[in-house]
Amino acid sequence: MLRLIKSLTLYELLKGMKLTFKKLFIKPVTINYPEEKAPQSPRFRGLHALRRYPNGEERCIACKLCEAACPAMAITIDSDVSEDGTRRTTRYDIDLFKCIYCGFCEEACPVDAIVETRIHEYHMEMQGENIMTKEKLLSVGDRYEEMIANDKASDASYR
Ligand code: SF4
Ligand code: SF4
Repeated sequence: MLRLIKSLTLYELLKGMKLTFKKLFIKPVTINYPEEKAPQSPRFRGLHALRRYPNGEERCIACKLCEAACPAMAITIDSDVSEDGTRRTTRYDIDLFKCIYCGFCEEACPVDAIVETRIHEYHMEMQGENIMTKEKLLSVGDRYEEMIANDKASDASYR
């Protein structure tokens, strides 16, 4: 009987409409991604980059501490002595499929060479694109150095 009365008075419909009207004037918690972006911490751990000094010299000294610290064994480094007598990497690969974005590589690096940027909007289309080679890492670093330096500075003031 109660069910019949509810059905005849459109009780469930009115109940639903009441909730709709109640929420109509409340600020939405969702955003229109990708036009709108959610706030992001300067400590966000996204795509990796290798940095250079302002004079263009590579920061990385091929100490391999990042490779040793990586729990996912995602980093592969080969090194040699360069013409100017400094030790440099001849190969620096990060397998993004293995990486768990823990940030240990960045923490281990004594010269702030390897960093995780705030870039999170990237994808792979072809087999093998998951390997970030030294060239790719350096080009990310070159392109986003200003953002990386600012994030490093704000992170230091945060500590
Ligand atoms: S973020 Fe973590 S898992 Fe990824 S390469 Fe660095 S140390 Fe390895
Ligand atoms: S990125 Fe840093 S920790 Fe890794 S090999 Fe280069 S200097 Fe060493």
